[in-house]
Amino acid sequence: MADHFYRQTWVDIDLDAIAYNIKQIKSKLPQQSDIIAVVKADSYGHGSVQVAEKALESGAKMLAVALLEEALELREAGINAPILVLGWVSPSFTSVAAEQDITLTFYQKAWLEEVMNYSFKNKLKLHMKWDTGMGRVGIRSESELTDILHVIKENNNMELTGVYTHFATADEEDLTYFYQQKERFTKLLSSFKEQWQEPVAVHIGNSAASIRFPKEMHNYIRFGISMYGLYPSKAVKNENLIHLKQAFSLHSRLIHVKNVPTHESISYGRTYITNDKEWIGTIPIGYGDGWSRKLQGASVLVDGKRMPIVGRVCMDQMMVRLDREYKVGTEVTLIGEQKNNRIDMDEVADYLGTINYEIPCMINNRVPRRFK
Ligand code: PLP
Repeated sequence: MADHFYRQTWVDIDLDAIAYNIKQIKSKLPQQSDIIAVVKADSYGHGSVQVAEKALESGAKMLAVALLEEALELREAGINAPILVLGWVSPSFTSVAAEQDITLTFYQKAWLEEVMNYSFKNKLKLHMKWDTGMGRVGIRSESELTDILHVIKENNNMELTGVYTHFATADEEDLTYFYQQKERFTKLLSSFKEQWQEPVAVHIGNSAASIRFPKEMHNYIRFGISMYGLYPSKAVKNENLIHLKQAFSLHSRLIHVKNVPTHESISYGRTYITNDKEWIGTIPIGYGDGWSRKLQGASVLVDGKRMPIVGRVCMDQMMVRLDREYKVGTEVTLIGEQKNNRIDMDEVADYLGTINYEIPCMINNRVPRRFK
């Protein structure tokens, strides 16, 4: 991300909030549970390297990403901490991981059998994924587990260093299915322990599970959304188990302000017609930045007050109705706090009918991140 930028729209990332959120969850975890900071997808749109460094400095012991590319970006930035890739990596690229001491996730016997044919200078570290009910990836049965362990035992170019699962409903009000998944995991784990005597790291919890059941998370938690100061769901938020600080805020400035007569139209398609003489401000952000066209009608903050987005959101610009004349250059807050008023990530997510996770990811690289 550029250190210097010319445009009038930017994201502020409050790295102290990241440190604060890690401290909050750490205080709830027992001694034997450490933190894996989940920094995939450019740290949920917050800036991969900067967040990873802050998370490690604040006590996280490992990083998790989705792609080998994301892990390599961290290594290239000089980060030496353990990194786990959560996603599937082709066997043909495993040598890259081994060389850079990047731990891969696996769950297929055929994958292992292919990797067996490669030789690495350093052993390839692996975490095995168990599908206890997410239905996405992972081994599902004890027989699959036994088969896979046989292959791994016969090979000395790889090392099993962890086993893990992922919950589908840890953030929901009804935890019935969560308990079923936990039960399946416990069964697989006891079968695993009968067959495998070497120590491995065991981890099961995302933010929701670790906030709700911090004492039951085994060796690590995989802390994602709440590290960024966002609650995994309204159900978890309402339980008041943890206080978090939102790290991401989105800002811009008015680049044009005009007084428009009654019955004039604003933006493409003439979907907004002035009711009166109105002050209309133009803000340089649009769907080309990931600010969805569906945000027409939502609010932004100017002078600490809510102003509605009027007319269609364009690719690079959009218009708001102002309560009075403001100077060009006046700051606008689209997500975050301004003069004791705030627009939360959750509010934008609700408006778009999605979850807060998607919002910082959706604001793309065209919008520079400033780290504070
Ligand atoms: N673990 C895995 C396998 C994930 O896919 C994710 C996120 O998608 C996480 C952990 C982090 O979850 P959360 O952001 O809810 O903490």
